[in-house]
Amino acid sequence: MKSSLLARQLQSLFGGEKDEGFRLALAQARNGNSAPLLAQLEPLIEQVDSAYAAYVNLNQWTTVLSGDALMDWNLLTGAIDVKRGWKEMLGYDKTELGDSVVQWQQLLHPEDARRFQEALAVHVERRDRWFELECRLRGKDGGWRWCLMRGAVAARDAAGQPVRLLLLQRDIASFKRTQAELIEARDLAESASQARGTFLANMSHEIRTPMNGIIGMTELALDTDLDAEQRHYLRTVKSSAESLLGIVNDVLDFSKIEAGKMDIEAVAFPVEEVIFEAVRVLAVDAHSKGLELVVDVAPGVPERLVGDPTRLRQLLLNLVGNAIKFTERGEVCVRVEIETGAAGDVLLHVTVRDTGMGIPLSKQQAIFAAFTQADASTTRRFGGTGLGLAICTKLVQLMQGQIWLESEEGKGSCFHFTARMGYVDDAGEQPDAEESFTGRRALVVEKNAGAALCLQTMLERQGIKTAVLAEPAQAVTAIDMNRTLDQAFDYLLVDVDMPAPGGMALIESWRQAGQHERVLALLTTDNQRREIGRLRELGVQVHLMKPVGRGDISAALMLLEQQGRERQSDFGPAQPEASRSLRILLVDDNPVNQEVARRLLQKQGHRIKIANHGGEAVDMFEQGSFDVILLDMQMPVMGGVEAAEAIRARELRRSWVVSREFQPIYIIAMSANAQGSDREQCLAAGMNDYVVKPLILDELHAALAKVPAAGDGNWVSASSVGGVLADGCLDLPGALANLGDVDLLVTMASMFLEDWQNYIDKLARALHARDAANSRLHAHTLKGLLAMFNAEVARAHALMIEGAMTGESQDWDEVGHEFSALQSEMARIRPQLMRFVEKRSVD
Ligand code: ADP
Repeated sequence: MKSSLLARQLQSLFGGEKDEGFRLALAQARNGNSAPLLAQLEPLIEQVDSAYAAYVNLNQWTTVLSGDALMDWNLLTGAIDVKRGWKEMLGYDKTELGDSVVQWQQLLHPEDARRFQEALAVHVERRDRWFELECRLRGKDGGWRWCLMRGAVAARDAAGQPVRLLLLQRDIASFKRTQAELIEARDLAESASQARGTFLANMSHEIRTPMNGIIGMTELALDTDLDAEQRHYLRTVKSSAESLLGIVNDVLDFSKIEAGKMDIEAVAFPVEEVIFEAVRVLAVDAHSKGLELVVDVAPGVPERLVGDPTRLRQLLLNLVGNAIKFTERGEVCVRVEIETGAAGDVLLHVTVRDTGMGIPLSKQQAIFAAFTQADASTTRRFGGTGLGLAICTKLVQLMQGQIWLESEEGKGSCFHFTARMGYVDDAGEQPDAEESFTGRRALVVEKNAGAALCLQTMLERQGIKTAVLAEPAQAVTAIDMNRTLDQAFDYLLVDVDMPAPGGMALIESWRQAGQHERVLALLTTDNQRREIGRLRELGVQVHLMKPVGRGDISAALMLLEQQGRERQSDFGPAQPEASRSLRILLVDDNPVNQEVARRLLQKQGHRIKIANHGGEAVDMFEQGSFDVILLDMQMPVMGGVEAAEAIRARELRRSWVVSREFQPIYIIAMSANAQGSDREQCLAAGMNDYVVKPLILDELHAALAKVPAAGDGNWVSASSVGGVLADGCLDLPGALANLGDVDLLVTMASMFLEDWQNYIDKLARALHARDAANSRLHAHTLKGLLAMFNAEVARAHALMIEGAMTGESQDWDEVGHEFSALQSEMARIRPQLMRFVEKRSVD
């Protein structure tokens, strides 16, 4: 019995597969056919017994040598069958305490008892080879002793339940002490490094202020009368101060990160714009060295991402700045793509590749450390602190990304970095290919293959079939051939800076041949000044500055289209100024106002497109071409001031691509508030003129007459048109005189009457909820509508309510009285308005 139990135990210990004879005997015994074989089995069992004794012995010796204590738990009886040294390890004598599992467990720290049970349960369940955990046991002196417990089930019953457990117990008190000391030392070191970082951050900040003073004052001094020697000294002061400031800024950033004070923002930002902004800052350096600078944004990159645009810009400035610094000829190419699109976020992957001196393999790790440069002579030649890449490394870590490098000495470098960013819902939407460009054909004549490929991809995304040639001479032949076949290209994109005969010669031949195609010149910041005049003379009005972005291409194509239309209209008879038909973008959120303005304007022969708020207006401005924008001030989503600012910002980008004199769009504000401050706000936002709502025909007319014809160039700012309103509760003749169209007034009145109660209810609800913002909005709407019919008394009440909503706190009782007065006044004018509608409709 004992032997067969041992046999089972050994089977589970050794896996039971090792000895062929042992396995055979077991199989026969299991089959109940044991009698004849018992004799054969006996010696084997004896062998097993002695092997087990040797095993236990060996184990004991092992534990003696390793300093471990050994226990053999009998899980059926709860006794500890074999025990060696576990009590002594805790300071007891071997005769003290009992030898039961319960006894051992009583010494276990309560917090560790649960972990022990869990570890054992997992081990039993998973049948791992062993389990281990650190736990505390109460020593005889009353203190806790850290022990490492390692255990394994040594036998299971037929149902698979464990019946024996072997446990090794090791004293790890000294290890734990060392560990605690190390943690303490690490914490101390960390806090010391943080303190150092904080000190550096504060110091750098303090140094920056006087540095700015030195630079600013030197600049002022340089503007005064100086002799050559003084000028030379001051220039040296200035450039030294600037490079010192650069170093201080790097140290400040670095120590801020070290001190854990660098926060990473999470805001939605336009990715491509931010990247181009950063790269363009460095374009001058690249172009002055004759380097090609290419930015290639992969098609899958969303318009907007959520992250820290400032840090992204900083990374680009560092890496692209280095690439330009360490490259003498060739190109620097920035590639932007999206790597993984897990739900909710994406990994932005930016690559900065150059054709410069490269970095030896032995230095490729080291340069990412602070104050390290690949080559000691670098500092002498190029300056720098060796902090740039260390800062980049920290920044990408903060943005949960990585930075790495591929480079071969003499063959250029390629730096990569990734950053995890949030994904904006609408971000995936790419602007659709402009229908007007689909089916068009373009030829790109560009010496740099990377830049040419980028342009080709962008044009093809606009639906334009694009061919690429690198040689001007080949291009001339291709252009000629296409003309002969009566299939002239629609667009020629010509790199001005090409080997002889050069891009300009190509453009000259285009000019002589009769300008069949529309030409887009590709310029650099270096040749722009020299070439732009000549381009104008040759009739090229739109250019693209390298590096070229998606937005630049769209803006340039749009301008070319506009130019084409202008050219076509040149053939028609000149229209007299008074009856000039304008393309007007009308921006107003109120359908009644939209209808009034539309009819008034159409009657004058103008063409109208309507946007319902500022956001739509900005989009429509980007898509279409208009002579004037009539912009309401108070609108939901995006108000007039914001919209005007956004439009002016976009124009700045357009001005980047236009060779001729750039003409910003004429914007007329429409506002129900005639106060001067409103006007000033409009003008400050870049608007040209201002009319008061409700619109009065003559005044609108007068404002539109001031819109300059294309090419006028001398737009004047702002003449205010005061609104004059007749007194009385409802002055329909006055309203008619303002609108100039009785049918229109009837329509307006019907529309107003239809929604009459709705307007009142909305205001009532907002007032009831004490919601100042909405009360103000609804009162404002009502005020505008009432003013259209010269319902002066009611308008005044609405105006009072609107005005009362502007302050910090509201007198709701007072507002309640105003609202009652407004309601009764409106009730009074309603029948009059209805009669007017009925009478006129009968007529
Ligand atoms: P700094 O440019 O101020 O010296 P960085 O940390 O930005 O400091 O760069 C460290 C070093 O790495 C540089 O001094 C240079 O030796 C090497 N290095 C960085 N970028 C490039 C590159 N694009 N090509 C060649 N060497 C580079």
